Amino acid sequence: MENAKDITEYKFSDIIASPSIKERFEKVRKYFFLRESTYDMSNRCNLRCEGCYYYAGETEKQFAEENLNPADWQQLMEAEKERGITFVVLAGAEPSYVPELCKTCYDTIPLGCIASNGLMPLAKEIDYRIHISVWGNDKTSLEIRKAKNMLVRQMENYQGDSRAIWVYTFTPVNIDQAREVTETLAANNHQITFNMFSAPTDYNGHLRHTPQTLAHTRAVMSELLAEFPETVVFSPYNIVAHTHEQGLHSLFSCSYPRMNPSTAIGLGRSFRQYRTDLQWDRAAACCVPDTDCDDCRHYAAGSAVVTARMYRHATTPQHFSAWLDYVDTYLAVWVKGYDKGENLCKEMIEPPEQS
Ligand code: SF4
Repeated sequence: MENAKDITEYKFSDIIASPSIKERFEKVRKYFFLRESTYDMSNRCNLRCEGCYYYAGETEKQFAEENLNPADWQQLMEAEKERGITFVVLAGAEPSYVPELCKTCYDTIPLGCIASNGLMPLAKEIDYRIHISVWGNDKTSLEIRKAKNMLVRQMENYQGDSRAIWVYTFTPVNIDQAREVTETLAANNHQITFNMFSAPTDYNGHLRHTPQTLAHTRAVMSELLAEFPETVVFSPYNIVAHTHEQGLHSLFSCSYPRMNPSTAIGLGRSFRQYRTDLQWDRAAACCVPDTDCDDCRHYAAGSAVVTARMYRHATTPQHFSAWLDYVDTYLAVWVKGYDKGENLCKEMIEPPEQS
């Protein structure tokens, strides 16, 4: 790194000659074996949030029948393991309606994550990371999600539970409420990470971001990351990638099957998104089907799409450091027991050009 200013073209060996970069690369590469797929566990939810990706769109996933047979789920998980899936993302509508099926998944594939609204606690024996959704302070949650006192109820359910991390979805109407939520979570020793509302394909409501709300969100995320480093699991490059005027596909070229016809390698070959009837459809397969790809800034999408672009970032020490911060962030968000390190790249740099 000492001679960084003098070098215009780097070899990979030049970049990882920096001890801090090499150490971080060795840390994250141990997880390169992770291969994810996602599973809708239940078509029921105790909330009905505006803009919810599950109930939106035309792929009719919300009308798939629930398969509640644990033996069928066990068979599916064994088949998934057989074809190389090592990490499961259980979502839905609301997975906590079917804890026994979540346990069946855990017993076969022990690395994973559950996306939940946190109002019905999941038993500790399901030892996945649990992502608890927050869409603003309690007043806004009541308006958009029709649920009272959400944050207090979520915290009661997951107090002292190392599986839990809160995922704050920034919409144009809740940007300044992120401080209040972060302060409350910090005071109770919880962690928070950030998501961006990404409009479903047929959504033209007031929650769709504009260039102004993206810039405002970027400023608030930066302040909170600087002020609450123990609580906020994020990095400057995460902020850039998710609040950029261009969406993730435009910036990084999405590799999920829905946008990627190649079945040769990576997500195009391995990723599936199963519905509650245990069927899947390649044409709709991504972690947030029915999201408008031009507006996709979703944290789950980025955790795979940006992470898959290692070589595009291995061009300068600064870009590779930013990419390592991004991967380190998302391993901490998604993998239970993985601790985030200090961010290596403190500046908000532009993503590298597509080659
Ligand atoms: S919604 Fe996002 S993750 Fe899904 S296919 Fe489109 S760009 Fe990719």
